[in-house]
Amino acid sequence: MSSRRELFLEEMGLTPLWRLKGGETGVGGREEEERSASVSAVPAAPARQAPAEAAIDAGDRAGRIARMDWVELKAAVAACAACGLRKTCTQTVFGVGDGQADWLLVGEAPGAEEDARGEPFVGQAGKLLDAMLTGIDLKRGENVYIANVLKCRPPGNRNPEHAEVAQCAPFLARQVELIRPKLILAMGRFACQTLLGTDASIASLRGRSHRYQGVPLIVTYHPAYLLRNLPDKAKAWEDLCFARRTMTELHSEPHARN
Ligand code: URA
Repeated sequence: MSSRRELFLEEMGLTPLWRLKGGETGVGGREEEERSASVSAVPAAPARQAPAEAAIDAGDRAGRIARMDWVELKAAVAACAACGLRKTCTQTVFGVGDGQADWLLVGEAPGAEEDARGEPFVGQAGKLLDAMLTGIDLKRGENVYIANVLKCRPPGNRNPEHAEVAQCAPFLARQVELIRPKLILAMGRFACQTLLGTDASIASLRGRSHRYQGVPLIVTYHPAYLLRNLPDKAKAWEDLCFARRTMTELHSEPHARN
């Protein structure tokens, strides 16, 4: 391990790596990771419409989004008013990074800093995420794309609502199709439950490879949660190592993406 990486891991409290500190599960704020409350599976109908009408609308809109190229998709996100969040946020936060990246990292929704700057994970949680990336020899923007389930900040960082997730999910689905990543790292309960269409807890989903659109998906805790729940950093480190091993295996497969 390079000394630079070692330094990062030490700063993050991730060394020594074999010392798993178990038992404590903190909660609070937006990322109550262990709670297995249901979030919206994708796709779902918008609220306050008759079921049949809503299903047609949602299908039609999702179909249109599914045919967009990058330019159209960015414009559609910027112009979206499908839920109430656009009225309260400063700007949409589309995503950042290499549009052909092998790694796609998915978080929940922009916070205050992201809302102000228009880029995902630029606040405290983003700093930790950058350190986590360094820990596995990755760097923001280099073979890595970072996106959120929601493109608009929920007021006061409240939890995303079912209908908001349902309206925004087609954008993320299209981002995945355009990037065609080799691996998705879903960070936090909302990203994991939304992409996998489950209400299972992070704890129960960790440690194995799932699939989203046929792409291997690995589950881990949200960096903001880790900031408040230091013992779980060791678990997140295990997840990152598992993701890196999985990526190495994918690269050695005969039909690896060219
Ligand atoms: N939390 C997220 O889930 N995404 C961000 O972009 C920032 C904080």
